Amino acid sequence: MGLTRLGVLGWPVAHSRSPAMHNAALRAVGLTDWRYQRLPVAPELLAETVRALPGAGFAGANVTIPHKEAALALADEATAAARAIGAANTLTFAPGGAIAADNTDAPGLLAALGECRPRTALVLGAGGSARAAVYALVQTGAAVAVWNRTPERARALAAELGAEAVAAPVPADVLVNCTSVGLADPSITFKELPLKADSVGEYACVVDLVYRTGDTVLAQEARRRGSQVIDGLEILVQQGALSFEGWTGRAAPMQVMRRSARE
Ligand code: NAP
Repeated sequence: MGLTRLGVLGWPVAHSRSPAMHNAALRAVGLTDWRYQRLPVAPELLAETVRALPGAGFAGANVTIPHKEAALALADEATAAARAIGAANTLTFAPGGAIAADNTDAPGLLAALGECRPRTALVLGAGGSARAAVYALVQTGAAVAVWNRTPERARALAAELGAEAVAAPVPADVLVNCTSVGLADPSITFKELPLKADSVGEYACVVDLVYRTGDTVLAQEARRRGSQVIDGLEILVQQGALSFEGWTGRAAPMQVMRRSARE
């Protein structure tokens, strides 16, 4: 038997921490003949590349920017969550080559929230990760408000997924930052987001999907003010763990994944 392969499809994908995290997890559960690799694929080559993966020994793949919508479109079947969100972050290949699409970003967020089941949530952003977050939180019965820099995108998302678009931040049990603010230039965080650093502590729990080495400015300020903080690396680990369990049928070694994602 040859290697069983997994990977992450993105463009670019050089910075992805998923290979280190999944390879550590595969080793930890004794799947020594499995490997997880980067799959840098330009958008125009995505469909033909994905269709060739099962024949090349791939059991599945994660999907990241900018391919999540296209990955859903080319799948033969999809979970209700992936269809409602309109994006797939996980593909699984059947032995005959059929492609199944799922979205583990949504349940990954809920897993990261753990026992915390917010009754109200404020989601910042209206891109792909915001769609997953809003879908997940609405599914739990939370009342979800959505703010976005481009308000019409927030209104469209909210109408489709059962949330409420807001023009300014509202109080909530949990704040989820699904914008990319803080990624390239941390110093502009509180200039670009509709929040003041002083008001972040009003959210008992703050989730920042953005991750970088060391805390983001949003996570730092929230932590300083006593909020529970769930950072982007924990979100990465949780969604990755669900993908891992789907492909391998093994319980994900969470601590191993956390350690390797943070190294
Ligand atoms: P996306 O679809 O490109 O959406 C980007 C969002 O950020 C849009 O709502 C956009 O608003 C907003 N935005 C961008 N620049 C802004 C600025 N200067 N001021 C205010 N809003 C701004 O991206 P995505 O896939 O949702 O990802 C968003 C972030 O989450 C990225 O940093 C990504 O790395 C991170 N992420 C992390 C994980 C994880 O596992 N931790 C998973 C997924 C995503 P407009 O609509 O106005 O353009």
